[in-house]
Amino acid sequence: MTMIKTENTTKLKLAIQKSGRLHDDSIKLLKECGIDISNGVNKLKAEAANFPIEVFFLRDDDIPQYVEDGVADIGFVGENVVFEKQKKLEITEKLGFGKCRLSIAVQRNEQYTGIQFLEGKKIATSYPVIVADFLKSNNVNAEIHEISGSVEIAPGIGLADAICDLVSSGSTLFMNGLKEAEVILQSQAVLIKNNEIDADKTILLERLLFRIQSVKKAKNNKYILLNAPNDKLQEIIGLLPGMKSPTVLPLAEEGWSSVHSVLNENEFWDIIEQLKAAGAQGILVVPIEKMII
Ligand code: ATP
Ligand code: ZN
Repeated sequence: MTMIKTENTTKLKLAIQKSGRLHDDSIKLLKECGIDISNGVNKLKAEAANFPIEVFFLRDDDIPQYVEDGVADIGFVGENVVFEKQKKLEITEKLGFGKCRLSIAVQRNEQYTGIQFLEGKKIATSYPVIVADFLKSNNVNAEIHEISGSVEIAPGIGLADAICDLVSSGSTLFMNGLKEAEVILQSQAVLIKNNEIDADKTILLERLLFRIQSVKKAKNNKYILLNAPNDKLQEIIGLLPGMKSPTVLPLAEEGWSSVHSVLNENEFWDIIEQLKAAGAQGILVVPIEKMII
């Protein structure tokens, strides 16, 4: 018997939101990972020309089910949806976009004194599982009224005493005469994965994750260039963490050097202030596109 060696045609099947708040950022992240599916977003499914991946466009609520069933191998979806749906799957990576919180809100004129306020009350939400969990772990008995959209109007029309819904700026709550009373979950988009993907797909997923992590790291870091008088060089270098150590190049002007390094967003302003105080001049800060370490 002769074995015909075929080319490996395994493709990773990824589910993303068809339209809505996560759609554009999902496409953008793929693009930043060098995966271009721009010519298929109006269809149900698109293939990337330059990476073995097939992208399915679905309602976000359906993505956990598709991933559990293996119709898709992986998905990009909000943690809020993942926790609500309680499917058997794995959260592999936080994606850094789609940030919001799931909060309890009450009418603005209420005296909200704490979680016990909710005892015996009626709460309208699209997240009955998460809310029930929250109430249980706080020993509060309240009635959950599940509605699928426009939750924020429920108190105003007498349907509920409180709501639990996603909040980002809080302006929707404000416009409906509500105030945020309790944050019950901080959420962002995550990569979820089917529990049983095979070895070939695991290799593809690792390649994708490597790219996602490089993009995320780059976003959290800035490249910094500055001029330092040579007599302050050691002090200035001492302030810079850098990936290894900073690059130091002599400037044409006698007695000065150019110093290049990488700074993390979290410590960025602190360090810039210290660098200025130490005598650094002409500080330039530039975004990093990818960061491989
Ligand atoms: P679909 O038609 O896919 O079901 P949807 O109306 O349920 O869409 P969107 O409003 O597009 O969903 O929100 C999708 C996800 O975006 C949310 O589940 C949440 O993870 C995230 N998100 C981020 N910020 C907000 C916000 N301010 N309000 C609602 N969702 C937000
Ligand atoms: Zn939805």
